[in-house]
Amino acid sequence: MCCSMGDSSSSSVRCKSKQIRIQDFYSVLGVSKNATKADIKSAYRKLARSYHPDVNKDAGAEDKFKEISNAYEILSDDEKRSLYDRYGEAGVKGAGMGGMGDYSNPFDLFESLFEGMGGMGGGMGSRGGSRSRVIDGEDEYYSLILDFKEAVFGVEKEIEISRLESCATCNGSGAKPGTKPTKCKTCGGQGQVVSSTRTPLGVFQQVMTCSPCNGTGEISKPCGACSGDGRVRRTKRISLKVPAGVDSGSRLRVRGEGNAGKRGGSPGDLFAVIEVIPDPVLKRDDTNILYTCKISYVDAILGTTLKVPTVDGEVDLKVPAGTQPSTTLVMAKKGVPVLNKSKMRGDQLVRVQVEIPKRLSKEEKKLVEELADMSKNKVANSRR
Ligand SMILES: [Zn+2]
Ligand SMILES: [Zn+2]
Repeated sequence: MCCSMGDSSSSSVRCKSKQIRIQDFYSVLGVSKNATKADIKSAYRKLARSYHPDVNKDAGAEDKFKEISNAYEILSDDEKRSLYDRYGEAGVKGAGMGGMGDYSNPFDLFESLFEGMGGMGGGMGSRGGSRSRVIDGEDEYYSLILDFKEAVFGVEKEIEISRLESCATCNGSGAKPGTKPTKCKTCGGQGQVVSSTRTPLGVFQQVMTCSPCNGTGEISKPCGACSGDGRVRRTKRISLKVPAGVDSGSRLRVRGEGNAGKRGGSPGDLFAVIEVIPDPVLKRDDTNILYTCKISYVDAILGTTLKVPTVDGEVDLKVPAGTQPSTTLVMAKKGVPVLNKSKMRGDQLVRVQVEIPKRLSKEEKKLVEELADMSKNKVANSRR
């Protein structure tokens, strides 16, 4: 099984704050976080109509249109919406690519919504047409929980995924086996319908894909096994190689393991969205590991050797004599391997806290008082 980490995910490992983008899909559509599916759909329709580049020639209209389509695509899909709510854009964005290219064609999305209700007219027909007969499979998402060390060193995981596979009963056609398809009455077997639309720019005629037959010109009796979708939900076990250095929010893409396409469309991808269980003592900061320890004031003065937990197990750490409170000692290369460059590793940073005792035994007190006298004399001598 091959999986790859994209640039965008590795940068999110290096600097998690980069994941938080100002653009919020809810505000792009102007709806609240609790908006219903109907609210989202109607907000999208309204906006998409006014920013469609065939209607709106303003500079930036096309980008705005894509942005709106993008937001709608995520928020109209329950699964993607819940991933977006939990992980932000990182949860729904394809690894390896940035920006809008991750999502399906915004014009296809637009046409799929406007088909059968008059369309938009104008030049949009040229973008639609027979192409919509082939539908690529959707991506699937899987929440992969790793323990701290698995994320640091990488791991091979067997996971069970559920996705839509081509229906074996009808061979993916969606038609009941043994039945003959009949000519579509809506389009007379043409697969296309002509519609006239009144728009602010005049009356437009547009050739569009016939929706009852999906542009095939034929109507088939639906296959019983897949209800005519041509796909059935199946579970599958796959083995996933998680590279060293991933962190919460990283995504692994497994190409072609998403949902099957329809009518010859290519399958979607599977994204494993990683969540790391924190370690109780070792805190991760990018590729460094932070650890805090306490030493006695005597050890701070005289120096000592500590046994420090690291991801490689317990390691001796030399604390030099005269260590000041809140000193950070560096254990080089005891941190997290750099993602996709596993030979490079971060450090473990050990913050040393010096404990001053609140109570002393009689004997200790006497010794410290002697020390105090000694340092007074030292000061007095140096002033002479
Ligand atoms: Zn079937
Ligand atoms: Zn038709």
